[in-house]
Amino acid sequence: MPKMRFNALTESRKREHITIDEAGKRSELFGKNVFNEDKMLQFLTKEAFDNVKSAIFQGNKIDRKIADQVAEGMKAWALSMGATHYTHWFQPLTGATAEKHDAFFDILPDGRAMEKFGGAQLVQQEPDASSFPSGGIRNTFEARGYTAWDPTSPAFIYKTTLCIPTIFVAYTGEALDNKAPLLRALHAIDQAATDVAQYFDKNVRKVYATLGWEQEYFLMDKALVQSRLDLVMAGRTLVGNLAAKGQQLDDHYFGVIPPRVLSFMSDLEKQCTKLGIPVKTRHNEVAPNQFELAPVFEEANLSVDHNLLLMDVMEEIADRHDFRVLFHEKPFEGINGSGKHNNWSLATDTGVNLLSPGTTPMKNLQFLTFFVNTIKAVDSYEELLRASIASASNDHRLGANEAPPSILSIFIGKQLSDVLDELEGVSKGKLSPEEKTELKLNVVGKIPEILLDNTDRNRTSPFAFTGNKFEMRGVGSKTNCAKPMTILNTIVAKQLTEFKKEVDALIDKKNLKKDEAVFNVLREYIKTSKRIRFEGDGYGIEWQEEARRRKLSNNKNTPQALQVITSKESISLFKDMGVMSEVELKAHQEVELGAYIFHIQIEGRVLGEMVYNHIIPAAIRYQNVLLENVSGLKEVYGAAHKKVAETQLNILEQIGEHIMEIKKLTDEMTDARKRANGLSTAHKKAQAYCDNVKPYFDVIRAQSDKLEKLIADDLWPFTKYRELLFGK
Ligand code: ADP
Ligand code: MG
Repeated sequence: MPKMRFNALTESRKREHITIDEAGKRSELFGKNVFNEDKMLQFLTKEAFDNVKSAIFQGNKIDRKIADQVAEGMKAWALSMGATHYTHWFQPLTGATAEKHDAFFDILPDGRAMEKFGGAQLVQQEPDASSFPSGGIRNTFEARGYTAWDPTSPAFIYKTTLCIPTIFVAYTGEALDNKAPLLRALHAIDQAATDVAQYFDKNVRKVYATLGWEQEYFLMDKALVQSRLDLVMAGRTLVGNLAAKGQQLDDHYFGVIPPRVLSFMSDLEKQCTKLGIPVKTRHNEVAPNQFELAPVFEEANLSVDHNLLLMDVMEEIADRHDFRVLFHEKPFEGINGSGKHNNWSLATDTGVNLLSPGTTPMKNLQFLTFFVNTIKAVDSYEELLRASIASASNDHRLGANEAPPSILSIFIGKQLSDVLDELEGVSKGKLSPEEKTELKLNVVGKIPEILLDNTDRNRTSPFAFTGNKFEMRGVGSKTNCAKPMTILNTIVAKQLTEFKKEVDALIDKKNLKKDEAVFNVLREYIKTSKRIRFEGDGYGIEWQEEARRRKLSNNKNTPQALQVITSKESISLFKDMGVMSEVELKAHQEVELGAYIFHIQIEGRVLGEMVYNHIIPAAIRYQNVLLENVSGLKEVYGAAHKKVAETQLNILEQIGEHIMEIKKLTDEMTDARKRANGLSTAHKKAQAYCDNVKPYFDVIRAQSDKLEKLIADDLWPFTKYRELLFGK
C-alpha cells in the first residue's frame, strides 16, 4: 500500500544519524567468547586437554570419561561467562544453522537445583529431527537423527548460550548435514596430500585444507525491506524498474562507507572478534548498498563454521541497527549480485603452503605437483564442482555476465601457462643430466620470480590461481561453503591418490628417480587436462561455443546441474574416498532438488499475490483516477473532450491491456505450478518448475514494470528501486 511505502521511507530517514562506536583494540577481544586453547588450558585437566588436542590433530576419539571432564571444564568456563544455556549447533541440509537450547539448570532427584552438563550432553544430543530435511534417509531406516560433538571446531558463547559445533547424523550413521561429509573430505585430503607431501619432506604429518571466503551482501533499511513482500518472502525483488541511476557510474565501489553502515560494521566486527572470527577487510562492492567482508583464512572446517556463524551474527546486528542483510545472490534485477569467493589452498603441519612456490627446486617441484594435480582434479570432475554451487538463487548469477559462467575452467595466467608448456615438452622416461639441470634451474627454479609479477588476474574465470591459492568464484553469497569445500577436497584427494600410485609405479617398476617419476606423471597430466585451462573472457559467447567443443559441461540450471551427483562415477568417487555413500548422495541430491522446488514455488506464490492483490488493484485505482478526470473533462468540454483527454484515454487503454496480459500470464503460471506439483519424482518436479514455471517470472515482471512506468507514483504499491537503493 502506498501509505506503508511512505511510512517506510520516513522511518529510514529518522535513523540516518547514528554515532559511530569505536571498536577499540580488537586484539584484546579476540576469541573472548571461544573455548580456545587458552581457556582449555585454564579449565581442563591435563589429561582432558591432551585428549582434545589429539582429537583435533590426529582425529583420535575421545572416550566418555574424558568427555565428562571436558564437559565439566566447558561448563565452568561458560558459567563464568554468564551463559545459562547450551546447544548443539549444527548445519542441517537446508543450508542454514540450527540449534536447540537446553538450560544448564536442572533439578536433582532430591529437589535441589544445580547447573548440570556432563559428557553425555556434550557428546551427543537428540534434537527432534523430524522437521529437518533428510532426503528420505530417516524414513528408509526408521531412524532418528542425533548430533555429535565436533571437537575440531571450538565451542563458543553466543549471547547467553554455549554453542557446541556438531555433526548431524542418522542413527544408522548417514550424514543429515553438510558438516559430516566435509569432515570426511578433509580427512581424505589430509591422508592423500600428506602421502604426496612426504615425497618432498618426510617431516610432514598432516595436511590441512585452508579456506578464506569473501562474503558479499546487501545491507538495506529494515523498514524498506519490510515494505516489500517479495524481499521479505523470497529475499529478492520479483518486480521493479531499474532506477534512473543504477551502478553505471561505478561510484560505489571502494567509495566512502556511509556512517550508519560503518556503525553496523564496527559493531559486527567487534562481535566477530569476540567469537574468534578473524574478519579483516571490509569495503563497498560494485552495487549501491552492497558490501563485502573477508577474514584471514583458516583451516577449512573452522572457516566454514565461522562463515555460518557470521551470517547469523550479521542478521542479528543488522536488526539492532534497523537494517536487514540480503544474502540472496541476486536481490535486484539489473544490479550486480553477490557471491562468496572461496580461496582455497593446502597447508602442512610444518607451516608450508603447498600451493606457494618456495626457495629451492624441490619446494617448487612440490608446488607444481599440487598445482597440476588440482588442475587435473578439476578437469576430471568439473561437472561435480559446478553441482556443488547449484541453487535456485545462484542460478541468477552464474552465467549472467557479472559472475563466472556455469562452465568450470581454470585461469593460471600467462607465466604459469608458459611453465606448463615447457614441462609438457620434457622427454618421457629417464631425463639426461642436462635436461634435469635445465628443468630445475630454468623452469622450476624460476617459478617464484614469475609469480612475483603475476598480476594479470582474470576476473571472469570461475577458478583462478592467484599466486598462492586457488580462488573459486562461482560460490553464491548464500551458499554454505561446506558444499563446494567437500567436493573440491574430495576430488583433489582422489587425484592425489591416483598420482601417488602412478609415481610409485614408475619408481618401482621403471626404476626412475623420484623427481623423474614426478615430472613424468605431471607431464601427462598437463597434456590430458588442457581443456580445463582457459585464459580468455569467460563472459563471452565464444567461450560457450569453445567449451562445447572441449566437451566441458554447461549446466545452466540447478535441476540439470544436480544430476551428476548420483552418476556412476560420482558414486564410486565418494565411496573410494570415504566421503559419502550412495544412499547419502541420493538423499542429499533429493534435498537439494526439494529446496529448489520450494524456492521457485514460493517465488511463484509471492508473485501471484503481488499481481492479484497489489498490482492489478493499483492499476485499477489509477484507471479510476483517469476515468474521473476524463468524465470531468467531458462535462466541461462536451464532445471536444476526446481531444483534450487524448493522453488520459491512451493511458487508460494501455493499462487495460497490461492488466489483461498480466492476469492471463499469472493464471497460466499458477496452472503450470499445479501441473508441476502433480509430477512424481523430485527431479521431474524441479525440472518442470525450472522449465515451465520460472519462465513466467520474467514476462510477468515485464508487464508489471510497464505498469509501474504508467501508474502515478503515489499509487504504485511497492517501494521502488530508486527508493530501495538510493534512499531518496
Ligand atoms: P584479493 O583476492 O582481494 O586480492 P587476498 O589475495 O589478500 O585478496 O586474499 C583474498 C582472500 O584469500 C582472503 O580472504 C584471504 O584470507 C584468502 N587467502 C589468502 N591466502 C590463503 C590461503 N593460503 N588459503 C586460503 N585462503 C587464503
Ligand atoms: Mg576475491
